[in-house]
Amino acid sequence: VALWGITNPWGSVNPAAPACSLADVMSEQLARQLDEENNTFPTLTEPGADLMLSGEVPDTTSDLMLAQILQMQFDREFDDQLRREEKKFNGDSKVSISFENYRMVHPYEDSDSSEDEVDWQDTRHDPYRAEKPQTTPRKGFTGKGKNITTKHDEVNCGRKNTARMDNFAPEVHVGDGLGMDLKLSNQVFNSLKQHCYSEQRRSAKLHEKKEHSTAEQAVDPRTRLLMYKMVNAGVLENINGCISTGKESVVFHADGGSLEEQPVPDEVVLKVFKTTLNEFKNRDRYIKDDYRFNDRFSKLNPRKVIRLWAEKEMHNLARMKKAEIPCPDVVVLKKHILVMSFIGKDHVPAPKIKDAMLGSEDMKNAYYQVLHMMQQLYRECNLVHADLSEYNMLWHEGKVWLIDVSQSVEPTHPHGLEFLFRDCRNISTFFQKKGVSEAMSVYDLFNTVTGLQIPVGAENEAEFMAEIVALEKRNEDHVQKRRKKVFPFASEDSGPPLEPDADD
Ligand code: ADP
Ligand code: MG
Repeated sequence: VALWGITNPWGSVNPAAPACSLADVMSEQLARQLDEENNTFPTLTEPGADLMLSGEVPDTTSDLMLAQILQMQFDREFDDQLRREEKKFNGDSKVSISFENYRMVHPYEDSDSSEDEVDWQDTRHDPYRAEKPQTTPRKGFTGKGKNITTKHDEVNCGRKNTARMDNFAPEVHVGDGLGMDLKLSNQVFNSLKQHCYSEQRRSAKLHEKKEHSTAEQAVDPRTRLLMYKMVNAGVLENINGCISTGKESVVFHADGGSLEEQPVPDEVVLKVFKTTLNEFKNRDRYIKDDYRFNDRFSKLNPRKVIRLWAEKEMHNLARMKKAEIPCPDVVVLKKHILVMSFIGKDHVPAPKIKDAMLGSEDMKNAYYQVLHMMQQLYRECNLVHADLSEYNMLWHEGKVWLIDVSQSVEPTHPHGLEFLFRDCRNISTFFQKKGVSEAMSVYDLFNTVTGLQIPVGAENEAEFMAEIVALEKRNEDHVQKRRKKVFPFASEDSGPPLEPDADD
């Protein structure tokens, strides 16, 4: 309890801090408790020792939680007060002074689980509860159990540890430990020290990041927490701002850090798949019929379905990378957040091809590149983009880069060829409109990409479509039969390791 309180620099910041803070109250309680425990533990003959011997130590597990909640509430009130003070202090002045750095915020308040967090709560032993009396036989120890030689060692050592707390950072309020003759065991001292360090690092990082906090308003608290964690784990240096808010995703720019000793690209994006579920309903069609995800889909709750989208994008990008199609490099996948390399430079994202204002020569080049990519995608990656258009191609360093492949499917998907036809229509319409005379008709493009020879004839779309659907049907029957034989297990892709599911 007091660990939590200890790091709160009330006094140094806020002249109007309450006369008696929660932290004070709690540390007083703690002091009393410690006192009692310290007295009972080495000399087992004292009154009260029976209690400990018989194991009837009061259960305090929920007290910690309660205290944390109280503390959090207290911190919030502190922040509110601080805001009022700040306002009063600055008044109408044009130049204002920010109190931001003194805020208490607990960004972890809606933490689900802290897998990658080095947190003091994770220390297995409650540092404040004396465990079984430790028998530490030392030189000169006279064997008669409950006695005094060890006690002196521990008392001295404990006092020394209390004194060493003076070396903690100035904002860590250690209280008058010596005055109350507090004796800290090595274990307690070490946890405190560890906690102070990690708390300091964390608060430093948070304060750095706050300047950009508008970016994070676009996402829900869970997502924000995941993003914080990535910064705290050093995967990201900084999250800068939002590049795009779409219906299904929000994309942030961030500075890369390092991941398991590997450097992360200097500039990355976080593609956050939106967890507002209703918008995803109409996409079921893509994923439900994708045999790679079929079995898993039916068993999952909606939040996990969203993660599947991110996972799909990751797998599809990996396939494209193999075929050397220009596309973002996957850095890491954390639940519904996909981190990948940034296409662009110095915080400026590459323009979508519809905005790129290309000259006619570049436009023609772009067309041939896209044609080639569509073929590669189909033949080498065994994929149909399924949302290919001038909105999902970026122009960067004289090349077309393909993005947004979460909905991409294999051509044998029950609607795969229809999706491909739609892609072809977008592409040929766009390039024809841009005056690329070489741009094929949608039908020729479709046949060229697939290698199929659906008769173009009178260029009747209904007829062409009917052919496609018939093909899909035939294919589906065939695939159904083969699937059970050939793919008893679904996922054959490789990619960065998935996060183990810690929650839900
Ligand atoms: P959505 O499904 O929301 O369309 P996209 O993957 O298309 O998601 O990303 C939305 C926008 O974010 C893109 O149009 C592009 O401008 C930008 N963007 C996405 N990924 C990257 C990237 N790796 N580098 C640069 N910009 C990107
Ligand atoms: Mg897009």
